[in-house]
Amino acid sequence: MLRGDDPMGDGRADPRRRVPRTDVLLADPRLATAAATLGRERVKAAVRQAQDRARRGEINPDEVRDAVLAALPPAVPRAVLNATGVLLHTNLGRAALSEAAVAAVVAAAGHTDVELDLGTGRRARRGRDALAALAAAVPGAEAVHVVNNGAAALVLAATALAADAEIVVSRGELVEIGDGFRLPDLLASTGARLREVGTTNRSTLADYAAAIGGRTGFVLKVHPSNFRVTGFTSSVPVRRLAGLGVPVVVDIGSGLLAPDPALPDEPDAASALAAGAGLVTASGDKLLGGPQAGLLLGDAGLVERLRRHPLARALRVDKLTLAALAATLGDPATPTRSALHADPAALRARTERLRDALAGEGRKGEVVPSVAVVGGGGAPGVELDSWALSLPERYASALRVGDPPVLGRVARGRLLLDLRCVPEHADERLRAAVLAVPEDD
Ligand SMILES: *Cc1c(COP(=O)(O)O)cnc(C)c1O
Repeated sequence: MLRGDDPMGDGRADPRRRVPRTDVLLADPRLATAAATLGRERVKAAVRQAQDRARRGEINPDEVRDAVLAALPPAVPRAVLNATGVLLHTNLGRAALSEAAVAAVVAAAGHTDVELDLGTGRRARRGRDALAALAAAVPGAEAVHVVNNGAAALVLAATALAADAEIVVSRGELVEIGDGFRLPDLLASTGARLREVGTTNRSTLADYAAAIGGRTGFVLKVHPSNFRVTGFTSSVPVRRLAGLGVPVVVDIGSGLLAPDPALPDEPDAASALAAGAGLVTASGDKLLGGPQAGLLLGDAGLVERLRRHPLARALRVDKLTLAALAATLGDPATPTRSALHADPAALRARTERLRDALAGEGRKGEVVPSVAVVGGGGAPGVELDSWALSLPERYASALRVGDPPVLGRVARGRLLLDLRCVPEHADERLRAAVLAVPEDD
């Protein structure tokens, strides 16, 4: 169907002449965004097809842009295979959600009962499933609350419990979380004053006791989650801080709710509360293996002060997060936990199968020992025995921009693909991704 009228009779309405030019289309903000996520070539191909359709008269010239958008897949984030051997890679979004959590997010994407009791038709406490699951997972917590991330949990605690008061904290625990964000700056931004005690390597109970007084809001204990101090060191355990007569807030960071024998030095919420902590803060997307969230657990009176503070509303979590958190707590068999507890012998066998399959296609790789780490602010210094497929370094960039993108680790001129964080069902896709890299000739 040819739709171009030509009322002027001068050919200006000739559809072929009114088809928008490629550079004009590519400058459209929506197409520019698509090009950024899908790649410029892919968008260009869709542009050419839509222009051809307009030239053939199948669509109007002013419909070309919408036709391009309709032909492109929705701009979704690219699912990356994490072969770095870093379990919680901040640049890769930390924890991968479990299948149960993914299903919960999809189910929650429409209208849900996030704040409604369907039985009575009345308003209910927001996210009560996630809160109940968290409380059940840590019976030692009298009350729980959830905010956007670990940093928000600390900000809320500092604002609600220590604005215009002092937070007593060891100099050895004033950490930088990452990307330039420093805990002391974050806390100071709330209006609380930091009362630093001890030195970088040593703090004693007497240091804390001397700093505590009428202006004290709480004592803060922070887990140095991304570094270790060794040698002549001492720090004061929560149990002894709890005897000082002021609330003790413990930032455990990683979100282990109970001790994990694989990580004997990593603090957990249950133990901190049992030792007398008034409040524990943690992240949802580290070792818990859930969505980005800030978990607050502890004394009912303290948690209630946080919940009632006006700032709590600004830190409120989204329904998708609440759904994912409830599912993660309900079924803790997360990809993070699988990666943490993977058997090195099984990883070696998978890596050898990958090597053999690639060798059959004329690609030569070697199976080498590897060391995986927790990363992302958890279990510093812990080394997890692993195995990797070693390939020439030139594979690194090609795999990174492949489909799916694969991220490995480059060491001494070789690309190492560590399977510890690659789910076993993705081995075949990993093999295909390697084969898709053009051969060196
Ligand atoms: C990761 C971490 C934080 C920050 O938590 P986010 O969830 O990244 O905001 C704060 N404190 C400690 C000890 C951490 O490990």
